Amino acid sequence: MTAMPTAIPLPVSDDRLAILAADVHRTYFAKYPPLPVRWGQQISRKRRRTIRLGSYNHLTTEIRIHPLLNSPTIPAYFIQSIIHHEYLHHVLGAPHNRRFRAHERRFIHYRESQEWIRRNLFLLLGRKKEELQPRRGVVARPPAEPVQAALF
Ligand SMILES: [Zn+2]
Repeated sequence: MTAMPTAIPLPVSDDRLAILAADVHRTYFAKYPPLPVRWGQQISRKRRRTIRLGSYNHLTTEIRIHPLLNSPTIPAYFIQSIIHHEYLHHVLGAPHNRRFRAHERRFIHYRESQEWIRRNLFLLLGRKKEELQPRRGVVARPPAEPVQAALF
């Protein structure tokens, strides 16, 4: 009789999000109380023109991350870049002004995150790569039909 190897349970995705959020809080926003960070509700639409990757509710102070990012194929730094962006709304307010953008660039993986979404937005939108012509930043548009990633 051989002993069955004990399966080590993988952390559930809520734990992964909590760990990533705690790291962002500790590194960049330690002087503020931590905010609740949760996955948003799944929407069944497969092919989209836009995707809102994160949101911050100033009434509840809750950060929500799009559930499409709840996948092992999404790099941790990209999810953290969204959490960081939404924390900045808590600290700096709603507008994406110069001050906001300057703070955003302090995230250590800012450039990699921009590059990752430039290359992978089509996957999140359920598109073929040829449909998109990436531009600068997180916004990409094909000639006819506007498609974009939006951070709120
Ligand atoms: Zn925003």
